[in-house]
Amino acid sequence: MTLRPTDSSALLIDGKLVPGSGGTFEVLNPATEEVLGSAAEATAADMDAAIAAARLAFDQGTWSRDHAFRARCLRQLCDALQSHIEELREVTIAEVGAPAMLTSGPQLEGPVEDLRYWADLAENYSWEHDLGSATPMGIPTARRVLKEAVGVVGAITPWNFPHQINFAKLGPALAAGNTVVLKPAPDTPWCAALVGKVIAEETEIPAGVVNIVTSTDHALGAQLCTDPRVDLVSFTGSTATGRTVMASAADSLKKVFLELGGKSAFIVLDDADLASACSVAAFSVCVHAGQGCALTTRLLVPRARYDEAVAATAATMSGIRAGDPSKPGTVCGPLISARQRERVEGYLKLAVEEGGTIVTGGGRPADRDRGFFVEPTLIAGVDNSARVAQEEIFGPVLVILPHDGDEDAVRIANDSPYGLSGSVWGTDPERVNRVVAGVRTGTLSVNGGVWYSADAPFGGYKQSGIGREMGVAGFEEYLETKLVASPATA
Ligand code: NAD
Repeated sequence: MTLRPTDSSALLIDGKLVPGSGGTFEVLNPATEEVLGSAAEATAADMDAAIAAARLAFDQGTWSRDHAFRARCLRQLCDALQSHIEELREVTIAEVGAPAMLTSGPQLEGPVEDLRYWADLAENYSWEHDLGSATPMGIPTARRVLKEAVGVVGAITPWNFPHQINFAKLGPALAAGNTVVLKPAPDTPWCAALVGKVIAEETEIPAGVVNIVTSTDHALGAQLCTDPRVDLVSFTGSTATGRTVMASAADSLKKVFLELGGKSAFIVLDDADLASACSVAAFSVCVHAGQGCALTTRLLVPRARYDEAVAATAATMSGIRAGDPSKPGTVCGPLISARQRERVEGYLKLAVEEGGTIVTGGGRPADRDRGFFVEPTLIAGVDNSARVAQEEIFGPVLVILPHDGDEDAVRIANDSPYGLSGSVWGTDPERVNRVVAGVRTGTLSVNGGVWYSADAPFGGYKQSGIGREMGVAGFEEYLETKLVASPATA
C-alpha cells in the first residue's frame, strides 16, 4: 500500500475510516501557503462516537489484560510506519514545515522507532508485585500490588512536533493497556490521520482501541475533558489552554497530565568557552524556527563579557537563513501559520517598545515572498522582567541577558513562571552541579548533553506542566494502582 495525502481525509472511529460529519477543512503548506488538500472535519457527534468506541473497547475487550498482544500490535505499527517512512516524511515536511533533517530524529523516525521501547515495556514491566504479609488490626494478611490501565485516554496534541507528541501519548497509553481518542491540532491533521489509516489497515489493533478525530473546532478537545467516559486527559499545548483543560476536567475529576510551555534559560558560567556556548545557543533557538517548547530562549551570559557574547551570538544567528524545509541543509523553516507569525512579529515590536535592541533579524526574510518565515532574531538590552524575557514567543527569537555570577544566573533562570528545560555551560564540575541543583526545571543539558530519548522522562516544573512523558515515569502516568489484600495462609 502507498500512503497518499488523499488518504488523510478520514477519521478513525471504532476501527473504521469514516468521513467527518462536518465535511472537510483545508491543510496548508506553511512554507509555500499552498493548499495541500483537505482533512476530515469532525463534529461533536463524531467525537461522541469515538469516545463511545474507546469506552466499549476498554470495558469489553481483552486489550487491557493481554500484555503480549499489545506488544505485538505496537511492533506491527512500528514496522508498518517504517515501511511508509518516506511518504510520511514528505507529508511531515509539507504539513508541519519541519526541516527535512529533523525527520530523521524527533520529527518522525525517532518517535516511530520509540514504539519498540513501549512494546518492550508492555512485555517487561512488573505488572504485579508482592508487598508481603502484615497483620493490620491483628488480621494476618497477604498483600499484592497490581498495576492496571487507567481506562479511556483523551490525548490532545499541538502542531509543532506532531509525531513526537502523538506517539509519546499513544505509545505508553496503549502499552499500558488503555484505549485512546487522539485529537491532533487543526494545523497538522494529516500526520495523525495517516497513522490512523495505517492502524486500521495494517495492524491487528482492535476496533475502538485507537480513535483519531481531526477538526478545526477546539471544542472537541474540551469535549474530551468534560466527558465522564474519559478517565484521563493527556494534553500537550500552551499553558493557557492547559489551565482550561485542567479546569474543565475538574467536574468529572479525571486524571490530567499536562505538558505545557517554557522559557528555558541557557546559562553560560564565566569559566565556559563563551564563543562556543553562544554559538550553540544561537543555533538551537533556530531549530524548527524556534517552535519547540523546551528550546532555550533566554541566553544568560557573564555581565563583564556581555558585548562579546552579543557579537558571537549574532554572528551565528545571522548566518542561519530561514528557508525551504525540504532542503537537506535547512535548520530554520517556516512558522506554522500566519497567526503564529503575527504573534512572533508582535513580540519583536514589543521588544523595541520595551527598550530592547534587535541585534540581528527582526523581520521577514527578504528572499521569501511566500510562506510564514521569520528571520532568526537576537534581542539585547532588556532585563529579565521584560515581557519578551518572560513570555513564550515560539519563534526563532533569543533574548540575551547579563548575569552577575552563578547564583545570580540561577536566580534569573528561576525568575519565570515556567520550568521546562535549560542548559548549563561551565568547566568546574562543582560549580556546574550547584547551578544544576538550583535551577527548577524538568530537564537540563550540561555542556551540550542531550536529554531527548525514549527512556528519559520529560516534563515541567511550575507552569510548564504536571507529570512526566516518556520513560517508565511517562508509562506509569497511564496506570492505576490496585492493592489486593487476602488472608495470609501460613
Ligand atoms: P494550544 O494550546 O493552542 O493547542 C493545543 C491543542 O489543544 C490543540 O489540539 C487544540 O485544538 C487543543 N485545544 C484548544 N483549546 C482547547 C480547550 N479549551 N480544551 C481542550 N483542548 C483544546 O497549543 P498550540 O498552539 O497548538 O501549541 C503550541 C504550544 O504548545 C506552545 O505553548 C508550546 O510550548 C506547547 N508545547 C508544549 C510541549 C511540552 O511538552 N511541554 C510540547 C510541544 C508544545
